[in-house]
Amino acid sequence: MLGTLCRYLRFMGYDAESASSMAEGNPREDTLLIRSAERKGRILLTRDRELARRAGEGAVLVAGDDVIDQLRALVNLGLIEPELRLNRCSICNELLRPAQIGEVLSAAYAPKNRQDLRFFWCRRCRKLYWLGSHREQLEKRIREGL
Ligand SMILES: [Zn+2]
Repeated sequence: MLGTLCRYLRFMGYDAESASSMAEGNPREDTLLIRSAERKGRILLTRDRELARRAGEGAVLVAGDDVIDQLRALVNLGLIEPELRLNRCSICNELLRPAQIGEVLSAAYAPKNRQDLRFFWCRRCRKLYWLGSHREQLEKRIREGL
């Protein structure tokens, strides 16, 4: 499973779907996965050598366990840019929009000291995001690792 890679791709602004969240059919069924990726114009990222072989040019075989190594391989293939965009919900893949004040106030987990912070909202998860120290840590990891 490549759940961490999927989350990082979303942090970087890429439209990424995890096979484990697919509702249709059996996500482990290779043929369904390949057809679904083709239909949606997605590149299939997999650790499964046989699946990568069957999917041919539509797939990338992901090696290694470290997410930064995995991302670097995708950068080297020219598939992604080493940039953090944080414009997508890391949980559900929905594009975020700027949060309204009521949404900021409704989130008990929002920082109380809100000056200098920019807030974003996922309308599907009803989850609040903000650019803060998490962004700096992620940016550092991506800048130094990729
Ligand atoms: Zn969401």
